[in-house]
Amino acid sequence: MDERTYAAEAAPGEEVTVAGWVHELRDLGGIAFLILRDTSGRIQVKFEKEAMADDLVETGLGAHRESVVAVTGAVEAEERAPTGVEVVPESVEVLAPADTELPLDPSGKVEAELSTRLDNRTLDLRRAEGQAVFEVRAEVLRAVRAAFRAHDATEINTPKIVATGTEGGTELFPITYFGREAFMNQSPQLFKQLVAGSNVERVFEIGPIFRAEEHNTPRHLNEATSIDFEGAFCDHHDAMDVCEAVVVAAYEAVAENCRDQLEALDLAEEFEPPEPPFPRFTYEDAIDRVNATGALDEQLVWGDDLPTEGERALGRDVGGHYFVTDWPAEIKPFYIMDHDDDPDLSTGFDLMHPRMELVSGGQREHRRERLIEGFERQGLEPEAFEYYTEMFRYGMPPHAGWGLGGERLLMTMLELDNIREAVLFPRDRQRLSP
Ligand code: ATP
Ligand code: MG
Repeated sequence: MDERTYAAEAAPGEEVTVAGWVHELRDLGGIAFLILRDTSGRIQVKFEKEAMADDLVETGLGAHRESVVAVTGAVEAEERAPTGVEVVPESVEVLAPADTELPLDPSGKVEAELSTRLDNRTLDLRRAEGQAVFEVRAEVLRAVRAAFRAHDATEINTPKIVATGTEGGTELFPITYFGREAFMNQSPQLFKQLVAGSNVERVFEIGPIFRAEEHNTPRHLNEATSIDFEGAFCDHHDAMDVCEAVVVAAYEAVAENCRDQLEALDLAEEFEPPEPPFPRFTYEDAIDRVNATGALDEQLVWGDDLPTEGERALGRDVGGHYFVTDWPAEIKPFYIMDHDDDPDLSTGFDLMHPRMELVSGGQREHRRERLIEGFERQGLEPEAFEYYTEMFRYGMPPHAGWGLGGERLLMTMLELDNIREAVLFPRDRQRLSP
């Protein structure tokens, strides 16, 4: 469109064309208002029925809610208008009419079920809250990229169609690849390690991961966005430092650049970036603390994974982000390095938000013999991973890294009840389209 002015930028004294959706029609008799909405905000269009041509009034007031219209006219100051200005139309063109029946109400006055909203995402994202979540998501990704660059990491993209999963197992989606069996990748883990072992040294990736998890929870998706880091010559402490910096940078950018969005989400008052450094305590301390809360019917013993209820109790106890370090080697994957002085303990860590796990990471096993032993201990066939283990023959530096669930970061940051709110078109057990 030529010469279109955003609603929020129309200034008194100008002649403009504004274009957007009919948010509301208010007919007061002799005078009527059309509230036009675009990505920048809303503007009032005033129809004085007696003073204006009949067809102009008919076109403007005949456009149903959510129809797309272009209005040309003079902008005038008007104190009583929602934004302090209004357009006195000279012409109105309906660019795309909307049905009179809408599957949901984009003004948000009538609440809709999540499934109805997801089925009609285009309409749903016309609500200020819906738009705000995805504007924040874009800002988070921008800030995360900048934080990684500030830590000398290079952005990479690794394949999502793979011959073997990262950890094998039941969480893989099989596909047919020219008559051969292949899978959708669960994690860029092995690939990012292969690049960290090159001269590139520090890498990050923001991309999809696919998990055929059977369960249907408010914090699991079958296609999620993983924010991954891997750095050569890093140990698990260095990796936690980068992780903390990236998470804090994301919050700070949102606090600074997403005021309107936080307002729309009713978070503006309380929104505060978490304070680094995040406490780091060991798995052993974590289970003691969980047991001390009395939240679980059965006491945890060394070697147990933290159950969801335990994570929540600990989260309430700590009250902010925290790392859990030194997990039992047995419950961490083969590529995580164990402590040399205690092989039952791994260098694996998780970053927790009081509500849930956000990150898993650790120092990686870079010694080929030990890596292969790890495969065998986990019941995996090292032969299937030769493309990976071979590279450990040619100078694989010590390295460490982590993976952060992008939607979980957003969900916890914006206090969303369901992870599906943080994805445009979520994939779960029931949902394959849109
Ligand atoms: P959980 O125990 O919560 O299911 P996980 O330990 O299986 O997670 P990891 O393999 O450690 O997950 O993946 C690293 C991060 O990726 C997780 O901490 C989480 O933020 C995110 N993530 C993993 N699986 C999913 C999923 N199915 N949906 C959304 N995010 C996920
Ligand atoms: Mg994990």
